[in-house]
Amino acid sequence: MQKMRAVIFRKHGTPGELEYTYVPKPKPGPGEVLIKVRACALNHLDLWALGGMRGVSIPLPHILGCDIAGEVAALGPGVRKIRLNKRVVVAPGVSCGHCGYCKSGWDSLCAKYQILGLQRSGGYAQYAVVPAHNVIRVSKKLSYEKWAAIPLVFLTAWHMLVTRAGLQKGETALIHAAGSGVGSAGLQIAKYLGAKTVTTVGSDKKAARAKMLGADHVINYQKKEFHEEVQTWTKMRGVDVVLEHIGPETFPKSVACLAKKGRLVTCGVTSGPSTPLDIRYVFARQLSILGCYMGGMAELHKVIRLVEKGKLKPVVDEIFPLREAQKALTRMQDRAHFGKIILTPDHSD
Ligand code: ZN
Repeated sequence: MQKMRAVIFRKHGTPGELEYTYVPKPKPGPGEVLIKVRACALNHLDLWALGGMRGVSIPLPHILGCDIAGEVAALGPGVRKIRLNKRVVVAPGVSCGHCGYCKSGWDSLCAKYQILGLQRSGGYAQYAVVPAHNVIRVSKKLSYEKWAAIPLVFLTAWHMLVTRAGLQKGETALIHAAGSGVGSAGLQIAKYLGAKTVTTVGSDKKAARAKMLGADHVINYQKKEFHEEVQTWTKMRGVDVVLEHIGPETFPKSVACLAKKGRLVTCGVTSGPSTPLDIRYVFARQLSILGCYMGGMAELHKVIRLVEKGKLKPVVDEIFPLREAQKALTRMQDRAHFGKIILTPDHSD
């Protein structure tokens, strides 16, 4: 049996559970392709999957990683229109492709929806098997590491700001945590749409980088209350849209930041699952609270086209060899990063 290098965990826990080892090299089944992984980005989802998620069945031992860039190494039976050795990124969401949600572009609501590296094996490995439908050809304009920094966070931020919140040119948006993956993507998408942006960071060093990404105003949340700063910046009007992904640490104050008819869109929580909500704000100001879970294939294709045109740019923090996955995940857990942390497998191994 052919083997490959991979990072696995055998039981749920902290990054200390990760093990760099050999596992059987997977073979593509009907409608699937084998990807030679050149780079795989980390996401907070990886920490949640590692820790164990209520209601989500994760097969053990498990390989994390949903943001894969690499080349097509083998085709399963029945796969056409995909050529070997081509440079590709892999869409992180797998859906049935023919239910009502899939057909209307709401893939992530499909009853069969799965995410690579969550319910199925991911990219913390030399090779990964993925559905052929998920493979997107990309150019050589960007390195594999940069391509891997795109899919999940840009897809999520696009679905949040464009599809859910309907952010318009001339509106204002608060994008939380410019240094996070979804924050750095959201900031660029908001600018692309012609909105004015305010963002938060945890250090002055990160503030300079947030400005470079196009933030009109940056708040160091360690030094100032962000909701008070947002009100000052908007002359007490509030912002039209808040891109929220932190949770209880920020959520109530994010709601307080909204202008009349404002929309708060949330894609996750990194600081806990529940929070108080002052309902009076919601009805009196006619606010909308919107949920977002990933996005659809059509949206990802749109995002990739904008990256090819140079309108959206991946933000890479640090690149680690695959064997140092533990160190890489700890860096993300400690919020030490700005942009995406990337793992690269060594194929001479
Ligand atoms: Zn479906």
